[in-house]
Amino acid sequence: MCWMYLGLCATKLLVESGLNPVLLEARDRVGGRTFTVRNKETKWVDLGGAYVGPTQNRILRLAKQYGVKTYKVNEEESLVHYVKGKSYPFKGPFPPVWNPFAYLDYNNLWRTMDKMGMEIPVDAPWRAPHAEEWDKMTMQQLFDKICWTRAARRFATLFVNVNVTSEPHEVSALWFLWYVKQCGGTMRIFSTTNGGQERKFAGGSSQISEGMARELGDCVKLERAVYSIDQTGDLVVVKTLSEEIYKAKYVILAIPPGLNLKIHFSPEMPPLRNQLIHRVPMGSVIKCMVYYRENFWRKMGYCGSMVIEEEEAPIGLTLDDTKPDGTVPAIMGFILARKSRRLAGLTKEERKKRICEIYSCVLGSEEALHPVHYEEKNWCEEEYSGGCYTAYFPPGIMTQFGRVLREPVGRLYFAGTETATEWSGYMEGAVQAGERAAREILCAMGKLHASQIWQSEPESLDVPSRPFVTTFWERNLPSVGGFLKFMGVSSFLTLATAVGVLAYKKGFLPQS
Ligand SMILES: Cc1cc2nc3c(=O)[nH]c(=O)nc-3n(C[C@H](O)[C@H](O)[C@H](O)COP(=O)(O)OP(=O)(O)OC[C@H]3O[C@@H](n4cnc5c(N)ncnc54)[C@H](O)[C@@H]3O)c2cc1C
Repeated sequence: MCWMYLGLCATKLLVESGLNPVLLEARDRVGGRTFTVRNKETKWVDLGGAYVGPTQNRILRLAKQYGVKTYKVNEEESLVHYVKGKSYPFKGPFPPVWNPFAYLDYNNLWRTMDKMGMEIPVDAPWRAPHAEEWDKMTMQQLFDKICWTRAARRFATLFVNVNVTSEPHEVSALWFLWYVKQCGGTMRIFSTTNGGQERKFAGGSSQISEGMARELGDCVKLERAVYSIDQTGDLVVVKTLSEEIYKAKYVILAIPPGLNLKIHFSPEMPPLRNQLIHRVPMGSVIKCMVYYRENFWRKMGYCGSMVIEEEEAPIGLTLDDTKPDGTVPAIMGFILARKSRRLAGLTKEERKKRICEIYSCVLGSEEALHPVHYEEKNWCEEEYSGGCYTAYFPPGIMTQFGRVLREPVGRLYFAGTETATEWSGYMEGAVQAGERAAREILCAMGKLHASQIWQSEPESLDVPSRPFVTTFWERNLPSVGGFLKFMGVSSFLTLATAVGVLAYKKGFLPQS
């Protein structure tokens, strides 16, 4: 008898539990949304998922198991914030704000998002006290409500673009606030140092999947795109495009929810699941790497991180991608959401030229115009991803359909990063989801108690996390609205007191 599963992490855990699963992979490689390319120009380059950081303990544990080391992304020198055609060097996770109104507005923006996130249960966002209200709203509507300044609204847009490769008007506020919360909050998700982008895997992230696949050996079958899953008989029957038939007691589907649409299910999926998979699109991103002869930005006092707020600029965020030993100087940049759609029609050469031009502007360097090599990957064209980094929930979907996201259907179980409750959307989420789904099956087989399905992960000793501490002022400064209200009330009181004193002095008021 043959066990059939999809998902490397699930497969690995099941093998370790003494079972004999089979993994069917559509592509001719493992790794999915992670993709390490090796060539002489780059040595190696991650064209998909790459960054890892504190609190992502499961993927760090796996990496260590396969001997894959991490190294810190360079953030020693200044970052650059480019806005309204000017560059402002800065240090820290977020660009500083000097205008006092804008400062109050930014401070209130992060504080409000984190505060709203605190109300949302990571495992059941639809149960948040304000779930319905927030799910009816897009992030754009929330920003319009809480932001007073154009500067804060513009940066908030970039924040959504960078984190979920979609637009504020496309995503549900409930979903996005949940997403940020389950990554540990606004600071953890956006930061390089002490955040989600702190490190990379030396040699590339695909090494982890490749290590697992090597260990699992023959049970990993490439170029086996599943197109049908039939649960009507005693065993689940799975058919692949390569015209093979696999039979198993249980199946784990570890693909983005929208890609379930490529599969014919028998019996049909229950109504909520059938409609859910029509309603969760993937984000849009092109990952671009520009290679230079020299690491000229470090010589200029820049670390290579650029936060670019300029509608005509192709790239929204960059990070230094030079190898840890200082060789192969490069800058990684993301073409995000609306811009990836806008620039998809250009040739690779044209995109490279536009990217170099904006780097030259932001860094104030002619050298940026002369790359020695360029790599890019447009994830929107990937048939077996459908886009990247992850699926997003438009308004109204989470509260109506969210609860069936990882609810098993018969002997079919669901994994994939979208079903995770910690760092969903990331490699970490994929590991959590795969291991959880494997334990659900072990539980169904009576090999594990239900209380053991969800397991927490001890903190990585090599990549410890530090808490983000907010200052008294960050916690207590008013919002712009609060400040104006206060000023309005206090001006009225000052005026009323002055009139009162004058009236008293002139004898218009009784003096005894
Ligand atoms: C440009 C980019 C940047 C990213 N940056 C980061 C980052 O810095 N840090 C981070 O942690 N994450 C990042 N991510 C996200 C991360 O890569 C994903 O969250 C993670 O890899 C998802 O893993 P998964 O196993 O859930 O799904 P996938 O990796 O999508 O795996 C699903 C697998 O199923 C296969 N498949 C699909 N359909 C079928 C079918 N019908 N039959 C058989 N097989 C099928 C696919 O080929 C694929 O191999 C990024 C992703 C991209 C693309």
